[in-house]
Amino acid sequence: MGLTGIQIFKLLPKTNCGECGVPTCLAFAMNLASGKAELDSCPYVSDEAKEQLAEASAPPIRPVAVGAGVRSFKTGGETVMFRHEKTFYNPTGLAAMIASDVDSGSLDKKLKEWNALQYERVGLNLIPQLVALKDVNGDGAAFAATAKKIAEESEFGLVLMSDNVEALKAAVEACAFKRPILYAATAENAEEMGNLAKESGLPLAVKADKVDDLIALSDKLTGMGLKDLLLDSGSREMKQVFEDQVAIRRAALKTGNRSLGFPAITFPCEMASNLDMETVIAAMLIAKYAGIVVLSDFKGENLFPLLLERLNIFTDPQRPMTVTQGIYEINGPDENSPVLITTNFSLTYFIVSGEIEGSRVPSWLLIMDTEGLSVMTAWAAGKFAGDAVAIFVKKSGIADKVAKKRIIIPGYAASISGDMEEDLPDWEVIIGPRDASLIPKFLKDFVK
Ligand code: SF4
Repeated sequence: MGLTGIQIFKLLPKTNCGECGVPTCLAFAMNLASGKAELDSCPYVSDEAKEQLAEASAPPIRPVAVGAGVRSFKTGGETVMFRHEKTFYNPTGLAAMIASDVDSGSLDKKLKEWNALQYERVGLNLIPQLVALKDVNGDGAAFAATAKKIAEESEFGLVLMSDNVEALKAAVEACAFKRPILYAATAENAEEMGNLAKESGLPLAVKADKVDDLIALSDKLTGMGLKDLLLDSGSREMKQVFEDQVAIRRAALKTGNRSLGFPAITFPCEMASNLDMETVIAAMLIAKYAGIVVLSDFKGENLFPLLLERLNIFTDPQRPMTVTQGIYEINGPDENSPVLITTNFSLTYFIVSGEIEGSRVPSWLLIMDTEGLSVMTAWAAGKFAGDAVAIFVKKSGIADKVAKKRIIIPGYAASISGDMEEDLPDWEVIIGPRDASLIPKFLKDFVK
């Protein structure tokens, strides 16, 4: 359980110096208890108090770092049940399973295919992160060799899945530098697996048959000094897995149950007989509340929708995605190129800039900060009004880059043209298309 504000206050210096940004230690204690402040903001907390306070300031679900390099990620660290309350922070890790008896050629082919599944969206590169390597025949040497090959020859992180602790040890020696997840500690092998995870400093998945049994196992492992755990509630039945995910998240957040305060690892690949059904289950688990989802394969048609869902679920709903205000050069513009303007909502930017790029017409694109609102919303909110746009055009410096002062505004904001013409008397204001898909034709006609 986390500490209360008063309990935290007792551990603070009580000098009320105000350096933490609030006037009193009591106010800081209250903020810390409610997760609104970071312990590091007070420079005067003693080491002893820090240790005790770390509990109070730690997220109720521990963030666990997985992998190394470009596909590394954090899972867990969540603080709310529903994303409209605040936000979900650490996107679900996606894994595809491969058997340890895979031959070298097939493994190369798979890794190449999976590596190619990368998608650009709103300026982000959407990728899956993990390969789950399953020991299928007890051949520890083959298991370790395959783990080594995946770790050394691909960007992917690993989930090492074996009941055989010796096989896991060999695999850890081969690929510890990639910070793989060890799967899994059970009631039967918790001691040995715990020791291996502790010696190697790697995250350890814990598997039980039901949530209650997970608590005992998790307590045993944390008692051994382990911190980075992942939870597998054991069920492979859709309704039960859903209930387990909700129960684990609720216990960690609402009752402060530290035994369940870890991200969950889930296995749609063991819950369905085909990839489409796995994808449906994975979609549910990304929303509710899996830290890692393991599929039997990555195929573009299944992976892409999951990556998009993940992007949407883990985007802060209270903070629109934005791009930086400024002048953007597209297709190498010069002084005779047209100038277009739109808002800094990133979806707007990427659609408009993509259409301009596709037109092959060299152009200047002005992006105005409208706090991440799209054109119509910004216009309705008065953030894309004629006078404000005119001020931005003047300040942007675009006038120094073009010979003819002509600016194309979005068709949906046609009504601002009058005010713009008044405030920019030496500019010609041209109303562009309403729909971005019409930009290429518009630009080609315009420059003719
Ligand atoms: Fe108190 Fe520390 Fe804040 Fe100073 S910085 S008011 S000592 S909590």
